[in-house]
Amino acid sequence: MFDEKDLILEAKHVTRRFPAAKGKVLTACNDVNLKFYKGKTLGLVGESGCGKSTFMRFLVSLDKPSEGEIIYRGQDITKLKGEKLRQNRQNIQMVFQDPATSFNPKMKIRDVICEPLLNFKRIKPSEKKEKAKELLEMVELPGEFEDRFMHNMSGGQRQRVAIARALALEPEIIVMDEATSALDVSVQKTIIELITKLQREKGITIGFICHDLGLIQSFAHQVAVMYLGNIVEVMPGEDIGENCRHPYSKALLASVFDIKMDFTKKIESIDSEIPSPLDMPPGCPFCDRCDQCMEICKQEHPVLKEIAPGHEVACHLY
Ligand code: SF4
Repeated sequence: MFDEKDLILEAKHVTRRFPAAKGKVLTACNDVNLKFYKGKTLGLVGESGCGKSTFMRFLVSLDKPSEGEIIYRGQDITKLKGEKLRQNRQNIQMVFQDPATSFNPKMKIRDVICEPLLNFKRIKPSEKKEKAKELLEMVELPGEFEDRFMHNMSGGQRQRVAIARALALEPEIIVMDEATSALDVSVQKTIIELITKLQREKGITIGFICHDLGLIQSFAHQVAVMYLGNIVEVMPGEDIGENCRHPYSKALLASVFDIKMDFTKKIESIDSEIPSPLDMPPGCPFCDRCDQCMEICKQEHPVLKEIAPGHEVACHLY
């Protein structure tokens, strides 16, 4: 489905454990294997606290896994230190959910956008104003906004500034962590249109974390569904809907609100609470909530199996 020569970054057997009280261990990511391809978007979906942000933080070297490798340009970036680690940050940038809290409110927009360029000595301080204007126009904002502060802008405009800053260093990959979740639906749409346009123009690879399968369906080339730190399904973007197979993916999809839905019918939701990651069932992590759970599901942890080109499912039904 994707050409392996376009493989740009690969997570191999990535696991992250955190020590918890009473000698327990919390496994936030469990043996995660994912591939990112040039110019494509991989959407990572799942409920809050499922480990998606923990995983994406490894890509931008904000944390290191307990085990596993993240291979980018032939090297394991989890092993990078010092200047090599610093230099690598230029290649993979991140956009957070709320730019208002990610940046110093006393900085003007030109300083926010140009800070990474100055840190890597890509521009001189005297070039800041012009460069900020150019980058603002790239994200379809007026160049004069370079003289504003974040608090003088709307949520959508702030997120455009965050995208301009992330793209200032011309990274190959950007990771967007719930970057549209705090925005109105109409603004969300314009931001998605902007990033897909920039992706087409610049060939950027995007890792997009989201809890909304409906939103991710509209633009991701590849979607991975995460449940309690485990990847339970990976599929081509166009397969969400009719072709998703894992009971958890189906339940997520059934709970998506749609303007055309029949509100006289019961809205589907997943019964019962998500179990504590400190008290994981020994077999399938979803077995306590799955209405198709079988005896084997309680004993054996299902592993990802390919059921169609580019489509893998971790479920004993397949
Ligand atoms: Fe349900 Fe069993 Fe599949 Fe887990 S492995 S999702 S419990 S059917």
